[in-house]
Amino acid sequence: MADSAPPNASLGTRLKFALRPKKSRSRLAKKPPPEHMSPDLVRLNSEASRPQTAKSVHYHDGSTRAAPDLIDKSTGERKDITALLHGLQDNSESGEHGYYTEHDENRKPGEPLVASLSSNLWMKIVDFLPLSDAASLAFATKVLFQKIGPGPWENLRLEENHQHRAEFLARLDRSMPRHLLCFPCAKFHLRIQPGQETLKPPNILNPLFECPNAQNPLLPPSRLRLTPHRNLPFTFVQLVMRAHRYGPRYGIPCEELFRRWRDPESGWSHQTRYHVVKGHLLLRVISQSFATPGLPPSGQRTLLFSREDYTPYFSVCAHWKDGELTNLCKCALNHLPKEQAGNGPEQQLQRRIDTVRKASAPLTALRAASQCPECRSIRRCSECPTEYLVELKLAEDKSDKAQKFKQAISVTRWSDLGDGTTPATPEWAACKGDNEEYDSFKAIGRRAISGTFESQTGDFIPGQRVRSLNPKNQKKGDEGHSWY
Ligand SMILES: [Zn+2]
Ligand SMILES: [Zn+2]
Ligand SMILES: [Zn+2]
Repeated sequence: MADSAPPNASLGTRLKFALRPKKSRSRLAKKPPPEHMSPDLVRLNSEASRPQTAKSVHYHDGSTRAAPDLIDKSTGERKDITALLHGLQDNSESGEHGYYTEHDENRKPGEPLVASLSSNLWMKIVDFLPLSDAASLAFATKVLFQKIGPGPWENLRLEENHQHRAEFLARLDRSMPRHLLCFPCAKFHLRIQPGQETLKPPNILNPLFECPNAQNPLLPPSRLRLTPHRNLPFTFVQLVMRAHRYGPRYGIPCEELFRRWRDPESGWSHQTRYHVVKGHLLLRVISQSFATPGLPPSGQRTLLFSREDYTPYFSVCAHWKDGELTNLCKCALNHLPKEQAGNGPEQQLQRRIDTVRKASAPLTALRAASQCPECRSIRRCSECPTEYLVELKLAEDKSDKAQKFKQAISVTRWSDLGDGTTPATPEWAACKGDNEEYDSFKAIGRRAISGTFESQTGDFIPGQRVRSLNPKNQKKGDEGHSWY
């Protein structure tokens, strides 16, 4: 069977390549058709750098001729393998998010080719596919359905195949603008307020569709903790990414998610922003609180941790206990000048002098305390695509007339939330702590999420190397003692 997908692609993807419509003739003149590349590529893998001899290729119309352009007419050798590799790369990237949209009316239908293979052979192929891929294959054309039959779809009904059913349905997203895929049910539900969906605090009932599992504690909808009392439901990631991918009818613009709020209990204020970059939703949360200099360890804990569940007041990923995050915050707090410590008459007088001086000084004369290289670096969680920056800042306190500008600690968190197709997306699952396979340094590489995010607005581009949040790579969770 002719196949043209990159050799590391899944069988499902390779079948999609083989069955998709042909490209236009003009494209054929420039490059050999991708259908005929894969055998070459397979050989390239084994013969890496050896000069290639000319090979003829078999076309669907039965003719046999040399692949144009790639073969040097005088020597018969392959001119440049990079052209071939780029050709393949073009093809693998042509459909963003793996959806192929190119369509050419002149292309011959592929059905006869599909029909020429026996049902037995197709069933053998199906045996190798994950159920969601098998069901998609049977859904692709009538001929394929005749060959494969309704078996994969019937299997999708079984309770144990819930996840596969959700994966299969997620691929039909484009044909369902008025519906939203509900993952607890693995069903599409009609959107109640299409286009008017707004993110609300969790204590406000905010159904986006009528769902029989809405109150089922055993099947909670996927959501990401942002701060105490605030989270981001996955449905909003879906809405934003659908609108980005297919158009406004499918969801809401990413700006609709931006929020600012102040937590009255803790005094921390928070600000969220999102950007879609290369098909992924990136999140930034800036959390800030005024910080008194010279706090003892217990005071630092009161400042940083919620009394309710001992989680930080600022935004954190699921792995915050394993790294240096809270130590970095404490390190930063220790850099605050301690001039106001103590409560004797001398210190009280000094404090009053300082207060008057600060109240009358122009902002430029005031500077935030400086930090050490340890606590001022951008850190990346090793287990999820999240980066952190702890900073000391001067922040305006409008409620205090005596001292308008005060020292504050700010923790910025950047996360890659993935492509929003399913909650099983590696990035979303990793941020929630549900993807133990994820290795952020391998997956992200050198380009920092923080840098990518900030370059969208040009506000501030951290130009530094990103360090690991957990350099010793110890995973103790609650058992670790250093986080509190
Ligand atoms: Zn539902
Ligand atoms: Zn420090
Ligand atoms: Zn993490």
